[in-house]
Amino acid sequence: MLNLAAILRESATRRPQAPALLHDGGMMTYAELDARSDAVAAALLARGVGPGDPVALQAPNIPDFPVAYYGILKTGAVVVPLNVLLRAPEVAHQLRDSEARTLITWVGVADEAARAAAKADVPDVFVINAVADSPGRPFHELTTPVSDPVPLAERAPGDVAAIVYTSGTTGLPKGAELTHFQMYMNADIPGRLFEIKAEDVVLTVLPLFHVYGMSSAMNLGIRFGCALSLVPRFTPEKVLTAIERDRATIFDGVPTMFGALLAYAEDHPCDTSSLRVCVSGGDAIPAQVFDAFEKRFGVPILEGYGMTETASTITFNPSPDDRRAYSVGKPVWGVEVQIWDEDGRRMPPGRSHVGELVTRGYQTMRGYHGHPEATAEAFASGWFHTGDLGYADSDGFLFLVDRKKELIIRGGYNVYPREVEEVLYHHPGVREAAVIGVPDERLGQEVKAIVVPRPGHTLTVAELVEYCRERVAAYKYPRLVEFRDTLPLTGTGKVLKKDLL
Ligand code: ATP
Ligand code: MG
Repeated sequence: MLNLAAILRESATRRPQAPALLHDGGMMTYAELDARSDAVAAALLARGVGPGDPVALQAPNIPDFPVAYYGILKTGAVVVPLNVLLRAPEVAHQLRDSEARTLITWVGVADEAARAAAKADVPDVFVINAVADSPGRPFHELTTPVSDPVPLAERAPGDVAAIVYTSGTTGLPKGAELTHFQMYMNADIPGRLFEIKAEDVVLTVLPLFHVYGMSSAMNLGIRFGCALSLVPRFTPEKVLTAIERDRATIFDGVPTMFGALLAYAEDHPCDTSSLRVCVSGGDAIPAQVFDAFEKRFGVPILEGYGMTETASTITFNPSPDDRRAYSVGKPVWGVEVQIWDEDGRRMPPGRSHVGELVTRGYQTMRGYHGHPEATAEAFASGWFHTGDLGYADSDGFLFLVDRKKELIIRGGYNVYPREVEEVLYHHPGVREAAVIGVPDERLGQEVKAIVVPRPGHTLTVAELVEYCRERVAAYKYPRLVEFRDTLPLTGTGKVLKKDLL
């Protein structure tokens, strides 16, 4: 039997007085986090919520997120984390899709959430940090302090711990059923790889409602008894202040965060000497950003790869001494990843052998909640099809080239947007770049670049077209260039290419 909440109970038993959460200068110990989440568990149980019941949780990275999260898990109920940026119809959809009957939301989005709950017939709404006119009931009414630790509900390793929605980068977010064992192992493995210690402080700005922040920052930190330095919403200034104040040693981020930190640090001095390792995942990190970040901050970036369906990480660069720049690393222990051609044949190593990454092992979800056809399609071959294209080198390090859905086919030739983006990032006047395919009558698709110029640089379309034309094959360089002030991002900070079309 296994309950994911055991990661908290074990750390609270081993290090009761150690800091679990650091937030805006405040602190919560492991004993307190365990006790507070016990109080939530006791209140949920008293209301009849128990094993298998989905409970939605929508909050930014504030202490009550982990309090509620582990409280829900302790009862054996299923956590359904919801993105705080969703609008009412989207929340209503995810409430219905997950079949949640209880929603714990946060004052900043409570009105919208309550409207969604009414639409989805969710009877119980509790509001974190509620004010006088907040809808629903204040979150503290969902706490019943208890004198003895609440026993963790016994769950089988394959029982569902959480239904987590994908980022919605390529379509409607899908609810992945993640099991207790899968999530426990994900918290465990990356930690073992870079020798995480209880003294580590994990800068936790990746949203906890998304699988990456939830698994690779929160569950990982709690599993090893570390302090989580919580930052509710990403700004480079807030992150750098928290690193300095809390002496953070580990920072997990998405590539746009690394880029923004670099740009900000250009004219703001900051002390990041406490950092010993950074982790990048969730999206492709441009080589230029990778190199410049390591140089500026003097700290190695370990890149990993995963997805909601795999409870976060499935490949990782083993350690700062055993890594390959620009590679997403090797499969983590017990996970298989292969590269297949269109006919399901395994491809040999080599840059020219690009195929789809497929995976199997304990790290893969049970299925998409309530969507057996989508589950069957994703597992059609017995392996989970990631929808990502890549290749392996002869040492087994994996390199991603792009998502299958974002591949551009121009006049019959394959163009990987990422390759063109890498070229653009090397132009001194380019701050951010995204390359997409746009419909073209003659060629099927044409290559288009959307570029955010670096402040103080005046760029012209002709200049960028020429810059790329000199560096990539004739069928690849963008004929169309558009300038923008920012790129649209998902709630996790990934570039939302479908909104650029
Ligand atoms: P949706 O499935 O709803 O379209 P999504 O795929 O972005 O959205 P997530 O589960 O958050 O949802 O993201 C997983 C995807 O992120 C992977 O399939 C891959 O395309 C991308 N990704 C993750 N890590 C990396 C990485 N290191 N480099 C490049 N891409 C990555
Ligand atoms: Mg996906």
